[in-house]
Amino acid sequence: MNKAKREEIFRRLHDADPNPTTELEYGSAFELLVAVILSAQSTDKGVNKATARLFPAANTPETIYALGEDGLKDYIKTIGLFNSKAKNIIQTCRILVDKHNSQVPAQREALEALPGVGRKTANVILNTAFRQPTMAVDTHIFRVANRTGIAPGKNVLEVEKALLKYVPKHYLLDAHHWLILHGRYTCVARNPKCRQCSIADLCEFKEKTPDVWQ
Ligand code: SF4
Repeated sequence: MNKAKREEIFRRLHDADPNPTTELEYGSAFELLVAVILSAQSTDKGVNKATARLFPAANTPETIYALGEDGLKDYIKTIGLFNSKAKNIIQTCRILVDKHNSQVPAQREALEALPGVGRKTANVILNTAFRQPTMAVDTHIFRVANRTGIAPGKNVLEVEKALLKYVPKHYLLDAHHWLILHGRYTCVARNPKCRQCSIADLCEFKEKTPDVWQ
């Protein structure tokens, strides 16, 4: 895919949604961190339901730590893998209190040292809470980047690096959200909605859904 096409794709995504953001509900960097840890292999909707109860009761490292693992599980037991997520969040709270003055660090290395926080989660926090131009490649972004030809790659790290290289610099901060939303609602895994797709004429996917693409 050439530079002009990428520029036009992001211009259209930007014009349709100038201020994209995560669908997770949060009011601070710490709430976002907890929500992102909870969201692994779970839907944002399910996480929002749980945090709508949790955050009014506890939304700082100290108060969630004070709940203890069992207390926290009461709030998050509707979410998949809640046992291990509760353990990770309690340990993370402890580290934030002990080592980071109860603040969420804005450095990748410090974030990735927290239990339950891998490269993707760190990228989400750096981008969404601290507005750094990182690219958290999830299943949606991986699919869209490869199908369209915007940033092909064999694995998530390759796609992440390709996106950082090829997305026009002035769109980099928000590109992660545009691509996730495009993959979640339009370029879905099965039968992508090519006919309704705003970038169909620029997309280089050879197998555009035939019954919905004319
Ligand atoms: S044209 Fe189809 S395959 Fe290409 S981005 Fe749009 S929905 Fe996805």
